[in-house]
Order: sequence, then structure tokens, then C-alpha cells
Amino acid sequence: MKKKVAVRSQYLTMNISLNSHPLLEVRAESSASTAGKKVWHSLWSFKIPNKVKVFGWRVCTEILPTRANLVRRRVIPDDKCPICLRELETTIHAIWECAAVQDIWAGSCRKLQKRSLIPTDMMQLMDYLMDRLTREELELFWIQAWLAWNQRNRVLFGGTLMDPRILNRRAKEFLTEYKAAQVQLTVTQVEQHGSATWQPPPSSVYKLNFDAAIFAELDRTGVGAIIRNEHGQVMAAMTASGPKVSSSEEAELLARRRSMEFAVDAGFTKLIIEGDNVTVMQAISSSRINCSILGYVVDNIRHLIHCLEWARTSFTRRGGNKVAHALAQHARYSLDNDVYWMEDSPPPAVEALIQDVMFL
Ligand SMILES: [Zn+2]
Repeated sequence: MKKKVAVRSQYLTMNISLNSHPLLEVRAESSASTAGKKVWHSLWSFKIPNKVKVFGWRVCTEILPTRANLVRRRVIPDDKCPICLRELETTIHAIWECAAVQDIWAGSCRKLQKRSLIPTDMMQLMDYLMDRLTREELELFWIQAWLAWNQRNRVLFGGTLMDPRILNRRAKEFLTEYKAAQVQLTVTQVEQHGSATWQPPPSSVYKLNFDAAIFAELDRTGVGAIIRNEHGQVMAAMTASGPKVSSSEEAELLARRRSMEFAVDAGFTKLIIEGDNVTVMQAISSSRINCSILGYVVDNIRHLIHCLEWARTSFTRRGGNKVAHALAQHARYSLDNDVYWMEDSPPPAVEALIQDVMFL
């Protein structure tokens, strides 16, 4: 039975490295001011979504599609601000001076409320803010500016301006949610050095070992999964059969998905997920978008990871995965029925279980 899970993978797939963006380099080089370089470097080092960094970059390079910029590019004839209908809609106006954003900054951190400077452009404003705001405050500034810009566009299509207090609260929540998702990402990195023997998880965390078996002559596959605690005691185990596959990578991926569904269904929330196929383990942890035909399985697995409170992916050598291996092999004897054991040692893997505990 497939479990429906929430889609929370946008942070996983958006993690494209922009640290060495060629346009950034060009712009930084051509800009003689040290202020320019400082702005670029800080912007790209912030822990904010890349879409917000790109927005910040467009703001500071004056390529945001404001009315003034669109008139300059002869796209439209009128450069008046469509919100306040008073000033030209330049970038600095849209982000900092317009009546529609002044309330946002007035309700924001105190340092943003002091107006001792009337900046002529965004670079000057950034230089000013970077001397006064902390890194966290600057990150929040960019989220607020991004939300404010997006809501300007919504207003043009009939939407209304959000209460600035609500927008500011949303910006804070957005940043907190984003950073929490990043923490979860960092704990799902693969542990590279596989151990030759099974290692127990730390207390309060469980370890899920899984493995796949290919029964080519039967046109079927097997999946074995075992969840143990810090003392090596069995919490749950499974032997299940799977469909015919075209590669061992496919078998391993399907096995990983099946065992994670089993663990999530059984109520485990803190898991070290361990397998012995390093390619498969890395495919899941990689933040790159997986374009292979198995990409959807990888996506399912990432969604399952987000069902967990805490997760770490770990690679072990065959010797550390003997129990899961024995359970996967056993599936050939029960192709029509999946078998589950709760808090009980599964007989097909007793020997491997004893060996694991002996090494502790
Ligand atoms: Zn305006």
C-alpha cells in the first residue's frame, strides 16, 4: 500500500550552486567599487533560496522589470509607479521608497526605520545597510523585498496589498522554514566510508538496513528491511517481493523506497537509512535533479525522507548489511505474500543477526 506524502522537495531540487555565477563574476569585475563586490559576495553567501538571490542580483544590477527599466528598453511608454501613481517606478522606488513598501520597512527591524540616508540607487542602499545590519537581518531584508516585489506584481493583476505586519511575519516564517529545510538536507548526506560490520545507531535513533535481491529466473525481485535500536534489538523487519527490473540500480532504488514506506508506516521518525549500493545512496542525497527514468522513484524517496523528523543516509559494505541481504533473499520463498515481524527476530536472518551482535 502506497502512502501519500506531502511534497516538500522544492528546496532539494533548487540547490543549484550559484557561488560561481559567471554573470556575478563579470559584474563584480566591471564594477570598480568595492561596495559592489561586497554586495555580491554577501548576497551569494546568504542562506536564502536561490530564487531570492537571483532577485537580489536583478535588483542590484538594475535589470528588474520596473516601469522605468521597461521604458528604457522601450517595452512600455509610461514609467509612473502603478501603485502610488506619483513617482517614477525605478528599482530603488519599488524596493525602498514607494508608499507601498515604506510601511513594510517601518514595521521591520529598528535599523531599517532610521532614514538618515536617501539612497540614489540600490547599490548605495545596500552599502548603507550592510554596514548596519547583521547577516540575519540582511537575509530577512531580501526576503521582505522579494515578497514586496511579488505583491506589487499581484496588485497590478487585481490583487490587494498585504497588511505590512502580515508580510513581515510571513517573511520571518519563510526564512525559518527555509533554514529548517536546509538543516534536514545536511543531515541526509551520505556517510562515505562504509563500515565492514554493522554499527548500531546512537540512542533515540533507529537504523534501517535494506537490500534488494534479483531473481532473474522468476522475473521478480526481493526486498529485505530491518530496523534496529542502539542495542541491536530488532524493532521491525520485512521480507517483500517486487517486480522484474532492468538493472540492479533499479532494484536497489525500489527496495529503498519499499523499506522506507515500511518504516514510515510503522511509525519510525528518526532513522539512519543504510544500504550497500553507494551509487543509489548518493543519488538520493545529491541535490541535483535526477533526470533518469528512475527520477520519480528518487523523488518518492525524498518525499519519504521529509516524512521523518530526522534522517541520515549511510553507506555500508556488504558485511554491514547481512541481515537485510538475508531477508531480501528470503523473498523468493514468499513471492505472493510480504512478511513482517515486529519486535521479533525474523527466522530467515537469525544467523546474520547473531553475527552482527557478536561484533558489537
Ligand atoms: Zn510608488
